[in-house]
Amino acid sequence: MEEIIQLINEANSIVITTHKSPDGDAIGSSLALFHFLKKRGKKVKVIVPDQFPDFLKWMEASDEIIQYDKEMEESEKIISEADLIFSLDYNGLGRIGLLSEPIRASSATKIVIDHHQNPQEFADHYIVDVNSCSTAQLIYEFISGLGQLDLLDVKMGECIYCGIMTDTGSFRFPSTTSNTHKIIAHLIELGVNGSSIHQQVYDTYSDQRLRLLGYALTEKMKVFPDQKAAYISLSQQELKRFSFKKGDTEGLVNYPLSIDGIKVSVFITEKEDNISLSFRSKDNFHVNKIAHKHFNGGGHIFAAGGMLECTLEDAIKKVEAIIIQNKNGFKSN
Ligand code: 5GP
Ligand code: MN
Repeated sequence: MEEIIQLINEANSIVITTHKSPDGDAIGSSLALFHFLKKRGKKVKVIVPDQFPDFLKWMEASDEIIQYDKEMEESEKIISEADLIFSLDYNGLGRIGLLSEPIRASSATKIVIDHHQNPQEFADHYIVDVNSCSTAQLIYEFISGLGQLDLLDVKMGECIYCGIMTDTGSFRFPSTTSNTHKIIAHLIELGVNGSSIHQQVYDTYSDQRLRLLGYALTEKMKVFPDQKAAYISLSQQELKRFSFKKGDTEGLVNYPLSIDGIKVSVFITEKEDNISLSFRSKDNFHVNKIAHKHFNGGGHIFAAGGMLECTLEDAIKKVEAIIIQNKNGFKSN
C-alpha cells in the first residue's frame, strides 16, 4: 500500500482500463476509481476496449469513457503519456483484445485490481482476491486501505454499488459476505439510492429485449435433467430479429439455473466473427476448468466464459457432447 500511495502521489497521468464487453462491475469499479483519483487531483482517463451497455450509462462520467475501438489514436496517445495504468476486473491481456497492444507497449507502472483466478504476469503490482465478490468491492477496500474513505461520495458510492450488485446477482451469490453487506450499508448511509440503481440497471429493457428473453426461454433452451444441465443458443439472425443491442442478452445465462435441479447453464451466441460462450453453475458444479480446457476461456468457479472459432452448429454439438458424455463433467468431486 505504501508503494502504491507513492505511485499515485507521483503520477502525472493515470489510465484506468477494463475488460472487453464491459459489465456493471467493470464500468462501476473503473468509474469509482476514476472519481476517487480525480478527487485526489489527478489527471485520469478511463479507456475500455469496446462498447458497453446503455443500462450502465447513468453513472456519473460514463460519457467521458473513451472507447478504444472508436478512438484508437487518441487512446494510444493517452496511454503512451501515462505513467500509471490500472487494470481493473481482468487479469490477463487476452481479456482486453486489441487494447492489449498499447498497454503492453507502455512503460507505465501497471497495477491490477481484480477478483479472477490465475492472474497472468503483465503488471508490476497485483491486488487480487479471488474470494471477493467483485472488483468494485476491492476498490472500496482499496480506498479504505489508503485510509481515505472520507473521500467517498455519492457518485463513487453509486458506481461501487452497481459493481457489487451486478456481480453478486443482486446480493445472492455465495460470494456475498457480511462484509459486502456492511459496505452496501455504508454506501446507503452516504446517500446512495439502491432501489433507483436496481431500476436503472434492471428495469430499462426495451420491449424487444424482453421478447428476445421470452423467445430464448421458450424456443431455444434445451434442458438435460439427468445431467443437471441446460443450454440456450442464439444465432445472429435470431438476434437481428429482436433488434439486438449490446447488453440485451446480459443475465440470460442465469435463467436455466432457476429450474429445480439444474446446476449448470451454458449460453452460446453467434457473434460476427466467432462463437461466444457463457457458463454459470452452482453448488459443487464448477465451470472455470471446462471453459479453459474446451473453450479457450476461463473465469470464476461459478461464472466463466470462452470462445470458439467454428459454426454455431458445431459449437452446439460440442457443448451437447460435453454435457452428455461427461455426466459429471462439471462436478468438482
Ligand atoms: P460472461 O459470461 O459474463 O461473459 O463472463 C463471465 C466470467 O467469465 C467473466 O467474469 C470472466 O471471468 C470470464 N470470462 C468470460 N469470457 C472469458 C474469456 O474469453 N476468457 C477468460 N479467461 N475468461 C472469460
Ligand atoms: Mn467482476
